[in-house]
Amino acid sequence: MKLKSKLPRVGTTIFSVMSALATEQGAINLSQGFPDFDVDPGLIDCVAHHMRAGHNQYPPMQGIALLRERLAAKTLELQGARYDADSEITVTAGGTEAVFSAISAVVHRGDEVIILEPAYDAYGPIVELNGGVPVYCSLTYPDYAVDWDAVGRAVSERTRMIVLNSPHNPTGAVLSADDMTALMALTRGTDILILSDEVYEHIIFDGRRHESVSRYPELARRSFVVGSFGKTYHATGWKTGYCLAPAALTTELRRVHQYVVFAANAPIQHAYADFMADPRTYLGVADFYQRKRDLFLDLMQGSRFRALPCRGTYFAMFDYSAVSDEPDVDFARRLTVEHKVAAIPPSVFYDGGDDHRVLRFCFAKNDQTLQEAAQRLCRI
Ligand code: GLN
Repeated sequence: MKLKSKLPRVGTTIFSVMSALATEQGAINLSQGFPDFDVDPGLIDCVAHHMRAGHNQYPPMQGIALLRERLAAKTLELQGARYDADSEITVTAGGTEAVFSAISAVVHRGDEVIILEPAYDAYGPIVELNGGVPVYCSLTYPDYAVDWDAVGRAVSERTRMIVLNSPHNPTGAVLSADDMTALMALTRGTDILILSDEVYEHIIFDGRRHESVSRYPELARRSFVVGSFGKTYHATGWKTGYCLAPAALTTELRRVHQYVVFAANAPIQHAYADFMADPRTYLGVADFYQRKRDLFLDLMQGSRFRALPCRGTYFAMFDYSAVSDEPDVDFARRLTVEHKVAAIPPSVFYDGGDDHRVLRFCFAKNDQTLQEAAQRLCRI
């Protein structure tokens, strides 16, 4: 049988590859981004409660009402943005499903989508699956800032969408108010849509404000804003996220969402709705991870790895050029096999494989895990 791949250039995602290697090698896994500590037992009780209460059948396709109302209230409070819970908020099966459904809803064959790289590895293939053309534009190195002139040069009549991600995976960079101003200038008077992946919205450090596109009405009206409960509540395996978008965009998003997954997990939506009633459950996450970032960076001072700035997310980038001149993919592999610490090589997040000799380490880990990992890395 002849089978023509729809994604011939795509292999298995680096997250699966590195996590499998870490397990095989008995290495400390600082590669794929997920916590090694458990979710709040109160949240687990809450899920169990809703399962026992019979919330085990399909929830509404767009998500349960109370959770959408709570998301609307949170967005109004934190971003001053008004989203209608019924027509502008959709609960999805994780942030990735929101990204998939948003891109699939609006990108037609031949449409161009500008992606800033290094980029989370799902964006490009999803654009391609829809017949779109990813147009890659690099963030500057080593600041990982957006070169808005370069983005401007990448815009053409065929540009349908720009994908943003702040706080940024894998670099830990965050967009500023000036970036938002530049984005407004760039998109004003055009039909360009924005996909703003804000899944790390609550993991932002040193008192910085998260610059959501939802805060800027001119941007919000052309944007899909993607969020994730997994990042905020330490439950990446529960695969629950959401998408905020103006009604016309949400209508298109739901046309796709309903046939990709129909709906997200019911008891978990009920539990998050209960939990979100207390804003401390999401507002406390920044301090929680800032302490872990500071601990890990401090421990790594004793190593030959040089930390790049980390302003948000639970990832820190380290320049390893003082340790090795191997390509990052080779070095990441050897680090896992020989030194028993797994990390992500960011060159896989560049279309052209750009390699700056840095690695991404996830610090969403118990303090002891970070101590043990840093100890191993300090010996190299
Ligand atoms: N977002 C996580 C990371 O960047 C992993 C996502 C995944 O494994 N698909 O590490």
